[in-house]
Amino acid sequence: MERDLSGDACCTGRSRRNFLASAGTAALAAGVGPGTLGPVLAATPDQPDSAAPAKLRPFDMADVDLAESPFLHAQRMTEAYLLRLQPDRMLHNFRVNAGLKPKAPVYGGWESEPTWEDINCHGHTLGHYLSACALAWRSTHDRRFKQRVDYIAAELAECQKASGTGLVCAFPKGPALVAAHIRGERISGVPWYTLHKVFAGLRDGALLADSTTAREVLIRLADWAVVATRPMSDEQFEAMLNTEHGGMNEVLADLYFMTGNADYRTLAQRFSHKAILEPLSHERDHLDGLHANTQIPKIIGFERVHEATGDAAYRKAASFFWQTVAHTRSFATGGHGDWEHFFPMAEFDAHVFSAKGSETCCQHNMLKLTRALFLQDPRADYADYYERTLYNGILASQDPDSGMVTYFQGARPGYMKLYHTPEDSFWCCTGTGMENHVKYRDSIYFHDASTLYVNLFIPSTVRWADQGATLAQTTAFPETPSTSLRWTLKRPTDLTLKLRHPRWSRTATVLVNGTQVARSTNPSSYVALTRTWRDGDQVELRLEMHAAIDRAPAAPDIVAFIYGPLVFAGALGRDGLTPGADIVVNERKYGSYNDTPFAPPVLAGDPETIAGSVRPGDKPLEFVIAAADRQPVRLIPYYRVAHERYATYWKLGSADA
Ligand SMILES: [Zn+2]
Repeated sequence: MERDLSGDACCTGRSRRNFLASAGTAALAAGVGPGTLGPVLAATPDQPDSAAPAKLRPFDMADVDLAESPFLHAQRMTEAYLLRLQPDRMLHNFRVNAGLKPKAPVYGGWESEPTWEDINCHGHTLGHYLSACALAWRSTHDRRFKQRVDYIAAELAECQKASGTGLVCAFPKGPALVAAHIRGERISGVPWYTLHKVFAGLRDGALLADSTTAREVLIRLADWAVVATRPMSDEQFEAMLNTEHGGMNEVLADLYFMTGNADYRTLAQRFSHKAILEPLSHERDHLDGLHANTQIPKIIGFERVHEATGDAAYRKAASFFWQTVAHTRSFATGGHGDWEHFFPMAEFDAHVFSAKGSETCCQHNMLKLTRALFLQDPRADYADYYERTLYNGILASQDPDSGMVTYFQGARPGYMKLYHTPEDSFWCCTGTGMENHVKYRDSIYFHDASTLYVNLFIPSTVRWADQGATLAQTTAFPETPSTSLRWTLKRPTDLTLKLRHPRWSRTATVLVNGTQVARSTNPSSYVALTRTWRDGDQVELRLEMHAAIDRAPAAPDIVAFIYGPLVFAGALGRDGLTPGADIVVNERKYGSYNDTPFAPPVLAGDPETIAGSVRPGDKPLEFVIAAADRQPVRLIPYYRVAHERYATYWKLGSADA
């Protein structure tokens, strides 16, 4: 979350506190993006004519089951955390602002503590929590999640009734702060950023948890926004957008799809930041120095506004942004940025080893954008990025033991992952983290009328009701580079099955019922199998995983090790790290927690050939590599690193050093 009051994000020299001041940005962006809502929206009878029809549709998460895997474990950990949290504590300041007596004490961290009073993000957690409970309900049909959505929606309706306005918020002096922001006064905080989380949570409650109360509260809130901003000139509006405002354009476009009310579409366009839209729509990368997570939710909104208006400039901006961030600005893990900001890639060596690289919200939001673009333009390139970031950014972000999640996932050699506390942090990444792990099933499979796409190799089953078909995927991936799929069909059925041939595999071989039927030597594509499928037909996809390196063009001697889609980190032990010391309150102090001196191993060799020095280790998905100054280094998947020092990037010494 960005904090500079000017809203001008180019401030790499500024302190972390300053960054945080401005904007409520995007760090918090909500978890259910256009993609997640796609199927629900597409089924809405009043979908306006101007909507650009998506090429693909996702499956309803209720039609996908996860089998045992690290993903299902992560989901269960988040479910437990969601059920531990108390809605009345998150509602505390919403009731205060509405003149009602709170029912329970407020939570700590960003929700109330003076350390973060400059960002004024009180209440953002409730929005994420609504989204997360709606996602968890859709994924599991555990009624406790729906009850929480319905309860919170009813409480917010009560706040609207008591205050006599549609505005529901929890930051101090809420209505006055928003009014001052709209008048163009200098304020402390990021009201639209925080409100976007509430908007998005209500949207998800309405669409995923079928909460009519959430829908009613959302429409009152949106109508308040329409009226409150109507007097603003375009110039005043654009000036306001210099302050972080999350994905307000996205959620307003969604509201247009939900209701057909053109006021919301107009407001979605007004909330589209022209200073960002204009250069991107001309394929100009002006991102150096900009606060990353302030921008990504705007871009997701650009894509959504394109779908609502048909205006090609929005689509061009969204796809160009994705291209430049995913292909030229990302680390091997799919993350990006240093101190939350995009940096000039020519200065890669000065930023890569930061303890404050790769804010996890940015990966959350890049996946939302990736998914939205993939639905419109189903290229394997999008799915490749999705897989890489899902393993190395999202799955990697959760402590498998506590269920808490990271803020930064930096590459300072020998540093460690730090996770939030259950009740005293409530960072932006806590919020997006609540959503990340209860929606894994939303991006494994996609379909059009007669084609089923298999994008991810995660043990799971998908039911395709329209075709009377069920496809079960059994796999030990990534421990083995293959996956098996089995059809259950009511009758012989003509369908196309599209299997992703990932970028990281030189070949893809497909067998049907034990006989080879296709072999692809074209990585980052799909193998299409069109045939009459019969009940019990068995499909096997065989891939190849190789040790390789990933590096930035500007720093060819700084490498990360990869194997298939996975980043392999040096596992560097627990010296100086006491149990529990990686659960921390304050995300601004990343880099100073557990800051005991530590000398990481030195790896030496030629970057062109060093991947050949990687040797198999004792267990599956473990490798070793010789160090120049000590015993060999154990390499393990970065997503498995927890409670341990690690290195993901290495500056190679010369072999004779
Ligand atoms: Zn964040």
